Amino acid sequence: MSKRDYYEVLGVGRDTSREEIKSAYRRLAVKYHPDRNHGDKEAEERFKEAAEAYAVLSDAEKRANYDRFGEAGLGGQPFSGFDASVFGDFADILGNFFGFEGIFGGGRRRSGPGRGSDLRTTVVLAFAEMAGGTEREIAVAREESCETCGGTGLAKGAQPETCRSCGGRGQVRVSQGFFTMVRPCPQCGGSGQIISNPCGSCGGAGRVERKRTLKVGVPAGIEDGTRLRLVGEGEAGVRGGPPGDLYVVVRVEPHDLFVRDGADLHLEQEISAFVAALGAELEVPTLDGSEKMKVAAGAQPGDAVVLRGKGLPRLRRSGRGDLVVHLKVTVPRKLSAKQRELLQALVAEGGEKAGVFRKVRDLIEGSG
Ligand SMILES: [Zn+2]
Ligand SMILES: [Zn+2]
Repeated sequence: MSKRDYYEVLGVGRDTSREEIKSAYRRLAVKYHPDRNHGDKEAEERFKEAAEAYAVLSDAEKRANYDRFGEAGLGGQPFSGFDASVFGDFADILGNFFGFEGIFGGGRRRSGPGRGSDLRTTVVLAFAEMAGGTEREIAVAREESCETCGGTGLAKGAQPETCRSCGGRGQVRVSQGFFTMVRPCPQCGGSGQIISNPCGSCGGAGRVERKRTLKVGVPAGIEDGTRLRLVGEGEAGVRGGPPGDLYVVVRVEPHDLFVRDGADLHLEQEISAFVAALGAELEVPTLDGSEKMKVAAGAQPGDAVVLRGKGLPRLRRSGRGDLVVHLKVTVPRKLSAKQRELLQALVAEGGEKAGVFRKVRDLIEGSG
């Protein structure tokens, strides 16, 4: 069967640019698309012809060969099916509007077998575990590639058969009025193949569920809610496809005393007004035990003492955050007779006045 010249098919000259070839092809493809020409054999032929011409002329190397040697320059297979790259171009030109993937046997779907699903699990750490960093064992039930058949789903020596429903494309076109949808083939589940002699271990699925225990290293200082990604530890891919990933969501239990803000820890310390006035050295709890802390004489309510490097390890950096001790200065509600006597003497000394009136600055402050 002799073929029309590709340039003639697209109605362009021999020195036409790639862009013009593309738009010429697009015009024809839209005009002769099967969705617009139901059952019209002639249109279908034109459509295929244009696609073939475009496949050759849009490829610089193939076009050069065609220009010099004609069809012979294409090595007898001008059009070795629609490979993924050319097909990608078609989809690019026409979009999915016409359900292109179904017509040409699914170029995109052919880009690779199905990737396995991602999995997700949660670990809960005590605050101290988070602070020190830890390694956790997690139990995962996941689909793994079947060892017996190597993931093919076939019994020993058996061959897969092409699915008759979809002709091996793995997809079927469903028309809804003018629109055409492309759906995975229900017969073969989108694989394009039917296994009539399945592997006994996996029943043809190519995958079997396995329970695994995995070790996850949790870096010290990790934030509550962080998602750790274990690449390739999700479910096995379908028929040799790449595996999914496993996401481990790390939850951290709150601490009884400390509140964290990044790598810094915050703590409230109650201190009597008298101690604050005189200054003191106090023992404060830290992550590792306790630490001596100096409160300067005359410390005020709301003052904070910062213990450098006594916070949490900094993530992805060296060093640690700080421990910030917020002073909550309190006034004794009851006094002993002796204390009362001493305080009266102090006030009489003239050091203490009732104070001056001042406008309230912020009624909200401190109420939260
Ligand atoms: Zn198997
Ligand atoms: Zn099928």
